Amino acid sequence: MSPFLFQDTRLEELHQALLAAYGPPPQRECWPPLRQLVYSMLSSRTKTEVSHEALYALEKRFATWKQVRDAPEQDVLETIAVVKFPEKKAPALQKALRRITRQNGGKLNLDFLHGHSEERIRRWLESFEGVGAKTSASVVNFSTIRGRAIAVDSHHDRIAKRLHLVPQSVTADETERRLLQMAPVSWTPAMLDEHHSLVKRHGQVRCTKIDFEKHCAACPLLAMCPTGAEIVDGNKSSRKFD
Ligand code: SF4
Repeated sequence: MSPFLFQDTRLEELHQALLAAYGPPPQRECWPPLRQLVYSMLSSRTKTEVSHEALYALEKRFATWKQVRDAPEQDVLETIAVVKFPEKKAPALQKALRRITRQNGGKLNLDFLHGHSEERIRRWLESFEGVGAKTSASVVNFSTIRGRAIAVDSHHDRIAKRLHLVPQSVTADETERRLLQMAPVSWTPAMLDEHHSLVKRHGQVRCTKIDFEKHCAACPLLAMCPTGAEIVDGNKSSRKFD
């Protein structure tokens, strides 16, 4: 490799610092892509444990995804009532299940996606109502497809911006695109998943949406974080005038 070729090592450094702070996240059990799609559609703007509760409730009430597809909308809506916006998610989910059946020769599964490029899968999934970049990335990266994608949720987007890895003005889709470009080529899809889990955990326990400033001084990412440095320096200089 040319000695003049710039290698951005920030994601690797970030990853190692988070691993040292939190330890490796639990290994994911990769689900079939259809189950992952259903879960991810339920999980938008909803806490992880609540999304799981809704998924398990669906699976308990209906024996198969076909039964979910063909049930009265009100039954599906009642079953997933714990998630945010169930009135939008129930019809979107049933519509998606009907369309998959239609486009997959009458079969209701997404196994045919294996072997297609990540880009093609994501373009197709994102043409469904209620499916955005985070959901399509989850299906590609978390399911048995195990392709290259980063499910950039609000935690991940916020932290990437506080660390100045991406400009403040970019959308979460653009954040993902830039992070994927920065990710070492040696990172496997499982490592991209691990990275996502570590950043999400950091966003839940330290670099939270509000009230995060109190964590900056002892944050494991402080040495690489311009936002944290500004906050810590600001606190120091204001203390001089106490
Ligand atoms: S130093 Fe502060 S702003 Fe930076 S990552 Fe840590 S908690 Fe977030």
